[in-house]
Amino acid sequence: MNLKILSRNAHLYSTKRLVEVGLQRGHSVEVVDPLKCDLIIQKKNPTVYYKGRHLDTTDAIIPRIGTSITYYGTAVVRQFQMMGAFTTTTSDSLIKSRDKLRSLQILSKCKLGLPKTIFTNYSRDVKEAIQHVGGAPLVIKLLEGTQGLGVVLAETENAAESVIEAFNGLEARVIVQEYIKEAQGADLRAFVVDGKIVGAMKRQAKEGEFRSNLHRGGTARIIRLSEAEQYAAIKAAEAMGLGVAGVDMLQSDRGPLILEVNSSPGLEGIERATGTDIATAIISYIERNI
Ligand code: ADP
Repeated sequence: MNLKILSRNAHLYSTKRLVEVGLQRGHSVEVVDPLKCDLIIQKKNPTVYYKGRHLDTTDAIIPRIGTSITYYGTAVVRQFQMMGAFTTTTSDSLIKSRDKLRSLQILSKCKLGLPKTIFTNYSRDVKEAIQHVGGAPLVIKLLEGTQGLGVVLAETENAAESVIEAFNGLEARVIVQEYIKEAQGADLRAFVVDGKIVGAMKRQAKEGEFRSNLHRGGTARIIRLSEAEQYAAIKAAEAMGLGVAGVDMLQSDRGPLILEVNSSPGLEGIERATGTDIATAIISYIERNI
């Protein structure tokens, strides 16, 4: 098959691994920078023009779209879908998963465990908002944040009020969430491909930090998920309509709580921590659908 990997950088670990496995399995694979694609929209034969050629014979795409290029990136994915290409992540589910608030709303409807969360329109009644999630300590998250940036733990109600008021003053949208203390600075990442768990790791925050993101100095190790955790991860990916998803969960006294469902999950952390070949799982998923 003719496979395109939509990625801005051919040297990234995930991109390189997907190219490597695609070639090994006898496919034609090319890395395409979505920002350099021109979309030709017309009555018949919608097409993508890239570096002097039309990418008409594309059978499948793997979108690896960074958050900073969501708008253009999802337009390119949509164009390939219009051209009949198979995609591991549709444009709609990519857009859905990029919006933290919308994702939590969708997941709450599926009866999946979530940390209790409140979102207000820069409410002046900050005290009341804080009480809705059970008071301090609590977690304040910038809706636009990634990789743990813009995620703040407020240990006291005074601290929480000041931080929320500061964000409100800047008109920066935030969600306020109960703090899951028993997670002890760790979270789980389940990698789901085609409705199955293909790898799972536990990430532990470094000493004195509650955010377990690897970018924030966290460490990862392989883990066996409980049945409840497997169920939650698979259901969450399904609810978001993602064929490939990285589902982040906290372990709590009331079972797994979903934090986030990532639509372009990185392969490096999970392949290294688990020793599993996730790239092959993704390429074979595409092969089954072509
Ligand atoms: P990002 O999308 O920026 O990674 P997350 O919502 O995943 O933001 O939060 C980053 C990290 O902070 C998580 O991986 C987790 O370790 C920790 N964390 C987030 N929310 C909570 C919470 N409600 N309770 C306890 N820890 C949390």
